[in-house]
Amino acid sequence: MYDKLIFEIAKKGKRGVRLPKLDVPAEDNLIPENLKRKSSLGLPEVSEPEVVRHFVNLSAKNHHIDKGFYPLGSCTMKYNPKINEQTARLSGFTGLHPFQDASDAKGALRLLVELGNDLMEISGLDGVTLQPAAGAHGELTGLMLMRAYHEANGNPRKKVIIPDSAHGTNPASIITAGYEVIQLPSGEDGLIDLNALEAVLDEDVAAMMITNPSTLGLFESNIVAVAKMIHDAGALLYMDGANLNAMLGIARPGDMGFDVVHINLHKTFSTPHGGGGPGSGPVVVREHLKPFLPEPLPVREDDTYKWAEPSPQSIGRIGAFYGNFGVMVRAYTYIRMMGAEGLRHSSERAIINANYLRRLLEKHYDVPFKRISMHEVVFSGSVFKQYGIRTTDAAKRLLDYGFHAPTIYFPLIVPEALMIEPTETESKETLDAFAEALIGILDEAKDNPELLHGAPYTTPVGRLNEALAAKLLDVKYDPNRETE
Ligand SMILES: *Cc1c(COP(=O)(O)O)cnc(C)c1O
Repeated sequence: MYDKLIFEIAKKGKRGVRLPKLDVPAEDNLIPENLKRKSSLGLPEVSEPEVVRHFVNLSAKNHHIDKGFYPLGSCTMKYNPKINEQTARLSGFTGLHPFQDASDAKGALRLLVELGNDLMEISGLDGVTLQPAAGAHGELTGLMLMRAYHEANGNPRKKVIIPDSAHGTNPASIITAGYEVIQLPSGEDGLIDLNALEAVLDEDVAAMMITNPSTLGLFESNIVAVAKMIHDAGALLYMDGANLNAMLGIARPGDMGFDVVHINLHKTFSTPHGGGGPGSGPVVVREHLKPFLPEPLPVREDDTYKWAEPSPQSIGRIGAFYGNFGVMVRAYTYIRMMGAEGLRHSSERAIINANYLRRLLEKHYDVPFKRISMHEVVFSGSVFKQYGIRTTDAAKRLLDYGFHAPTIYFPLIVPEALMIEPTETESKETLDAFAEALIGILDEAKDNPELLHGAPYTTPVGRLNEALAAKLLDVKYDPNRETE
């Protein structure tokens, strides 16, 4: 009975809320005539328990991190501590209006300043903006900062280099920022190939963008040499910090030579994400890029907090208001709760978990690059080919075992890639059960490949057309759908 649309449960006259009778004279003219609704809004009429049950049941249909393991590589689906939600809901924060005068919002400004300080300390860099609304937005902001820097030196330059393992947002951001993408083939070992880099470096190169550890889960061990080559060519080094969860308190991008880094608060610092929910992609920069940071910037001055005087070289605003403040409160809470030791411990454990899974699975699935993994590990699902199965079939089947699928077919340079990021918040029991499921699916592929072609069987909807499903939404439950 919980599979109906809320409109099907509705009955005329049902109410969720009843207000007491008016005990003052009614005032009809508060809303101008032209703003008044002419027809009913058409909301479903339901009781309070019906609304609650409807949405609680809906929330359990999809897979989410509060329900089960979610090893989606590159996305860092760690558990989100509930205390983050409590602090984000403090009325002093939720009651603020973005147009409020800074002198009324010193607590919020202090949180922005302190979060920024934490991010600078964690990354080993000198300036920060919290405005970008996601990682990709941080990339674009970082590229705009680097362009402004080069322009101030007389020449914006033309090209930005990325490795062929780069996340798809990297080339998209480069093009949006008006640069040309130079794609660098990875070496045999999956790392940046210094000779290949030498061959493409010239005075038209504005920057190189590197994800470290890379999307293959490998630490770029030549990073100091790469930084020197880039800087000798007059270019800047950008780090896509989406994988920062591998180095908190262990290593700092600033010490490796990076000039600009974006950080995904919604990945590394445990704020809920996915499904297009709010993100936050702060950008930290080295001293010489600080004058170009977007405005406004919060500062602490004479023991109070306010917005800084704008820098004449600032690239200006890159979004409305100050970024996704609620996400920042959550990330700040997480950092405070963990402390320096706790953050380091979380990264160490994320690395141990990924390597533990690698050990459990490497006898069964090919690992293309045989080095210690950082916080994630990439396998190839090509072993399925002999049974007429693709990695996507195995990924769908995992849902029947109660696990979210890993990232598949990315990075592009690994055929039939399965990219697994367990994160630090998972227990050994969960990792064991997940490895068992992936090994079990391999047996199913041998014995009953047809089964895999039809998976998943236990989810509210079966296999969808992945391109169309997001565009032609069909949220109607079909009770006649065949199940296992
Ligand atoms: C997630 C991710 C991004 C983009 O971040 P969004 O917040 O999703 O825009 C960029 N690069 C890498 C490596 C990522 O994993």
